[in-house]
Amino acid sequence: MSRSDTDALIAEMTAHPEDLPDYIRAVEHLLEDRSALLKLIPACPVHGDECSPHAREWIGEQRAKELGMWESAP
Ligand SMILES: [Zn+2]
Repeated sequence: MSRSDTDALIAEMTAHPEDLPDYIRAVEHLLEDRSALLKLIPACPVHGDECSPHAREWIGEQRAKELGMWESAP
């Protein structure tokens, strides 16, 4: 989310405080989704579960492995 996105979101939330519970529910839903997704990936050896940098690295490694398999296929 860019700085202007964040500013726009804050401006909208300030203009409609009655919608705040909806925003909070939406954010909670996104965090639950993120958490469920990160639990599918082996834990980071340094930080444990739900480490985003480790998850990105792990996905990159899996992609590289997959590409390697494709390249070595006859
Ligand atoms: Zn980590």
